[in-house]
Amino acid sequence: MFSDVLDQYDWNATTDMIMAMTSADVERALTKSHLDDHDFMALISPAAAPYLEQMARKSRAITEQRFGKTISMFIPLYITNSCTNSCVYCGFNHHNKFKRVILTPEEIEQECKAIKKLGPFENLLLVTGENPKLAGTDYLEKALQVCRPYFSNLTIEVMPLSTDDYKRLTYSGLNGVVCFQETYNRNRYKIYHPAGMKSNFEWRLNGFDRMGMAGVHKIGMGVLIGLEDWRTDVTMMARHLSYLRKTYWRTKYSVNFPRMRPSESGFQPNVVMSDRELAQLTFAFRIFDPDVDISYSTREDHKFRNNMATLGVTTMSAGSRTEPGGYATHVDALEQFAISDSASPDMVAEDLRRLGREPVWKDWDRVFDIADAKSN
Ligand code: SF4
Repeated sequence: MFSDVLDQYDWNATTDMIMAMTSADVERALTKSHLDDHDFMALISPAAAPYLEQMARKSRAITEQRFGKTISMFIPLYITNSCTNSCVYCGFNHHNKFKRVILTPEEIEQECKAIKKLGPFENLLLVTGENPKLAGTDYLEKALQVCRPYFSNLTIEVMPLSTDDYKRLTYSGLNGVVCFQETYNRNRYKIYHPAGMKSNFEWRLNGFDRMGMAGVHKIGMGVLIGLEDWRTDVTMMARHLSYLRKTYWRTKYSVNFPRMRPSESGFQPNVVMSDRELAQLTFAFRIFDPDVDISYSTREDHKFRNNMATLGVTTMSAGSRTEPGGYATHVDALEQFAISDSASPDMVAEDLRRLGREPVWKDWDRVFDIADAKSN
């Protein structure tokens, strides 16, 4: 399990190593074709800031070589904001008093139909708060079954599940799982996640192993930028990704670096990452792992997403609503956080084409699920 691997790394020593990187370390990393975590630390360090142009060129070349000039499009569907956790930075926090919504199967179907009118989406991300009693595996299974006829590719971003539950959901059409560790700082994790199931650092961290063991086709990872030192957090995530690649080598991976957005929680970020730093991190991840999918959501603004669309990003959302039922059935429900890019899917796609990128709405077919199931 990755928790044993993480024990080998000291948080403060990692921070010190990153801050001690020199231009020689950066230049060495930029000449290598297979990078290790030391090289990654060099590329995200302050010492790499003067090399941003060079990193951008390398990132663009690798991305075009591995992914072509494409951006895969997806849309999130929040199906409940009911949550038993108390994450201090989130508007869905259990202590926040507001009317909770759990969409019924009929409402989920209406949302699917409304999304289909927004654009030719085939990649759907189903998102929930964490309420195992009211919106547990049975509920998720039903939701997947309802969405299946409308979308080719179904991914969930929900509470960490058991291996058996992940397996069970793959039989109902699940292709991918996204889970954000939020922070790899074990000692400070509980400050942000004081109660509920999410307060169990180990259970969340080892959830990625359970996804791998269950044969989930694609695993999405992320840390929430705004909690702890971002350079140290993403280094731990890069180590985690390397571990998962070696252990569950048949699985595909994506990474995401969500910057904290305003929410009903009122939480103010402890650290702020500039656009330039996010660009540096994106290039560093691409150079470190040429095959990883790098995803930008509508948390980022339209102009910045356009700027990054040709330089390393491979997946984008568009037209997103972060309240359950936000497309049709509960348009006044509480959103999880405020989005930055409110451009319509058409506008996002048009801009991508203008930038020489082809928006890809469908890159998976149900028939692959059958092949996957047979080989697992
Ligand atoms: S971040 Fe997720 S688990 Fe935490 S309070 Fe918000 S919805 Fe619940």
